[in-house]
Amino acid sequence: MRFRKRDEAGRRTRDILRSRCVDDHPQSFTVMFHPVPEEHFYSYPNKYQYRIPVTGPSNDAVLRVVSRTIAKLNQEHMDVAAVGMYAINLTNSRLWPLQTPETVDVKLYAFKYQKEEVPVTFPLRLLPYTNSLTADRIQVRMPGGTWETLENSIVKQAAKWNPFWPIESQQKWWAKNGKHFELMRLPIEVRHNIYRQAMGGVFFPKIAEMDGRGPEPFLSVQPFLGSWLGISADCSKWKTPSAKYMSRNLLLVSKKVRQETLSAVWVGTTKRFTEPLVLEKCADTPLPPHPHWLTSIHLDMTLFDLFRIFEVNVNPTLHFGSSGGHVYGSILVNMPSLKSLEISVNCPRELEEGRKPDHNPWKIFREESQQHPNMEVKPCFKVAVDWMLMGAFPYIKGIPHVELLGAVKTSLKQKWGYILSQAYVERDRDEEFRSFRWEEEVEELALEGHVITQAPPCTCASSCVRWQMGTIPFDEDD
Ligand SMILES: [Zn+2]
Repeated sequence: MRFRKRDEAGRRTRDILRSRCVDDHPQSFTVMFHPVPEEHFYSYPNKYQYRIPVTGPSNDAVLRVVSRTIAKLNQEHMDVAAVGMYAINLTNSRLWPLQTPETVDVKLYAFKYQKEEVPVTFPLRLLPYTNSLTADRIQVRMPGGTWETLENSIVKQAAKWNPFWPIESQQKWWAKNGKHFELMRLPIEVRHNIYRQAMGGVFFPKIAEMDGRGPEPFLSVQPFLGSWLGISADCSKWKTPSAKYMSRNLLLVSKKVRQETLSAVWVGTTKRFTEPLVLEKCADTPLPPHPHWLTSIHLDMTLFDLFRIFEVNVNPTLHFGSSGGHVYGSILVNMPSLKSLEISVNCPRELEEGRKPDHNPWKIFREESQQHPNMEVKPCFKVAVDWMLMGAFPYIKGIPHVELLGAVKTSLKQKWGYILSQAYVERDRDEEFRSFRWEEEVEELALEGHVITQAPPCTCASSCVRWQMGTIPFDEDD
């Protein structure tokens, strides 16, 4: 039981005594045997810390074995090392040597844990017919009444009373046994994995003014705009109020580790983009952190943004391709180092539940025009994602590896997986010898005459847009 720091000593122990009827609470024994001296009853923690007066035989063999066992377990066991314990005599009696061979005497010992002001009391006994005093001849009565071997009881109690997080515990443990982790002896690939995980694992590029050189990319581990957690290319600047999500200490270990860490997170990781504008700025930055930092891109954007990037226009009718002006999709074409692209479509259920921003072209149109309050704004994902990929095709056909993730029907994954891999193989052929004729396909689609005032209706067996409680999130195989 932890004291409230402000309380006087008397009050600090009172709560422990109140809980003495609970068998699971052996701190109350300690306070009953050695109450707070009256003169300290009203002392605050800065004036008085609870302590047991020196009692018991000065030369207690059992206590020596207990101390040796704790010292041994400090080396071997994380919780024991972290909890920082030692044993104290609570009474004057002696367990060893045994009075008669068959004697089973019991004596109380207190165990002090570093963070606990009041030690915890346990009854100890020796097994009958003990003729040499070793740790395995000592037993401890645990809360609940079972007797455990000394080692077991120490380990169990340490696990129960250890107040530290596993990582802190490990640091305390290794500080005691001198163990250390030989990072540099691991293969470089494994080191890189460790660096990436320690730095957050998932990286969202952002653009910001870092140190007067003009806007430059930095990596954040949070997708939201305006979150200032991250590192710049040379990590000269940390724009971060708290490095909670990135293990900044890694950058302080040594020059080599710092270099390796930076290169591990900047090169060879997938960069996630949640906004077209950020993607564009990163692709065009005059200060690229590394020539090959954008080899793998993940687009985690709304349907509205994906339509915008890939020039899928639905207003007033469905048509594809640039209507002049800004073309985000061409960013991907002009990115020679790009080897892998993941396009993630947000699940409609997540959108409905407000876990992701729900922007799609029809919804935006209804909001902006304000003339069609009753129009259907939820598209069938089987149709809408197909259109999105149709628009994307000219921009992504030259990328060696394209993966479709999220709310994409299996049939669409198969269809577009085949079309895209075929297009990559045929990338050097003339238009007329290619198996997928994009221009003809979009013309055909345009002829279907979809109009903006009606989102493509869903005819899927398990509806993309109408949910029932308890149904599966998104039926990909439909
Ligand atoms: Zn559907």
